[in-house]
Amino acid sequence: MFPVKQTKEIISTSLALEVVSDLPLDGEEKGAPTLLEEISLPPLEGITIDGILKAGDTLYESLIREGISAAEILDLQDKIKSVVDFNYIPAGSKYSLKYDPTGTLKEFTYEPTPFDVFHISLPLPNSDLKDLKVVKEDIPKEIVQIEGTIKSSLYESMIECADAPQLAIQMAEIFAWEIDFLTECREGDAFKILVEKQYKGDFYRWGNILAAQYEGELLSKHDAVLFEDPSGNIDYYTKEGKSLRKAFLKAPLNYKYISSYFSNNRLHPILRIWRPHLAIDYAAPSGTPISTIGDGTVIYKGWNDGYGNYIKIRHPNNYETGYGHLSRFASGLKNGQKVKQGEIIGYVGATGLATGPHLDFSISENGKKVDFLKLKLPAASSINSQYITQFNEVKNKLLGALENREELDLNLGL
Ligand SMILES: [Zn+2]
Repeated sequence: MFPVKQTKEIISTSLALEVVSDLPLDGEEKGAPTLLEEISLPPLEGITIDGILKAGDTLYESLIREGISAAEILDLQDKIKSVVDFNYIPAGSKYSLKYDPTGTLKEFTYEPTPFDVFHISLPLPNSDLKDLKVVKEDIPKEIVQIEGTIKSSLYESMIECADAPQLAIQMAEIFAWEIDFLTECREGDAFKILVEKQYKGDFYRWGNILAAQYEGELLSKHDAVLFEDPSGNIDYYTKEGKSLRKAFLKAPLNYKYISSYFSNNRLHPILRIWRPHLAIDYAAPSGTPISTIGDGTVIYKGWNDGYGNYIKIRHPNNYETGYGHLSRFASGLKNGQKVKQGEIIGYVGATGLATGPHLDFSISENGKKVDFLKLKLPAASSINSQYITQFNEVKNKLLGALENREELDLNLGL
């Protein structure tokens, strides 16, 4: 059955033919037919309806909007339920419904990702549902190497080298916890990537970056390797097999206990007034070393009213952390200095407004203070030791190809 709006179009075509049928139709010797059934219509092309699943929509709602009847959708849903769960098709998925000229739905296609296109041929009415055929479309791809040097920015250079600004974005995301591409790139810095190039006829799109390297004036050589372990975890790793998505340390110090939690309203122990406490107080003996919870840059070091001796650090991905009431700063620590995760920046004290030695620790995400204990960050992980052999094999192939421009055999199991 055609969806409603398509049916209307076909009817109006037939009516038009009836009116202008003074001319003999192809293959008709007779004069104007009087009955609609006598007209031999030109062969009808089956129609195709294409759509994209919007965020918050179910496929059902989306198909209704395309003019397909509820009964037909439920029938389709029932036929293909063993291979497609209508309720769990990700937003952004493309789909299409192909009808044959008689208006029978022949094929349902959906693309949950641009790499995964599934064609489902529908069984004829009354035929066995076991005949359901699902074919995954094979999108041909090759792996290409792109290398270049920075002239003004990574973005500009990617456009120049490969006309592919999206690869600059992909690369910036891969190295987000290691390299700040806005401030740390310098003219002459070198980068190399291995990336999938996909074809549908002509060039279709760039796929995943499989490996990347960046080496710059301010930056030592950084490597990234994409690896999927046999249990299905996919991530970018350093040469040493550490995930490039770094988490923060669990806490900035060895503390005795938490004396005050993050709260929008607490009674201040000295001021005796209710006010928000958008930080965590870690009680610890005076002089306990305090570490930065992640790599970053010191953007404030000095006296800060009630917080006493205070340090603020800016981290990648729009995080900032603050450390207050310090007895003293780590020797030599300067404003603007780069610090590494775990590096000691100061020592616990009770400077400013404090009832006893503790660290007042706060973190903001995109400029807003958030509860550190509830912050959801990717777990920093390394390659599971049981998969290290497979990882090394993939790594050696990819980085070997990057270094030596070797031909790469596509069969990496990626
Ligand atoms: Zn506090």
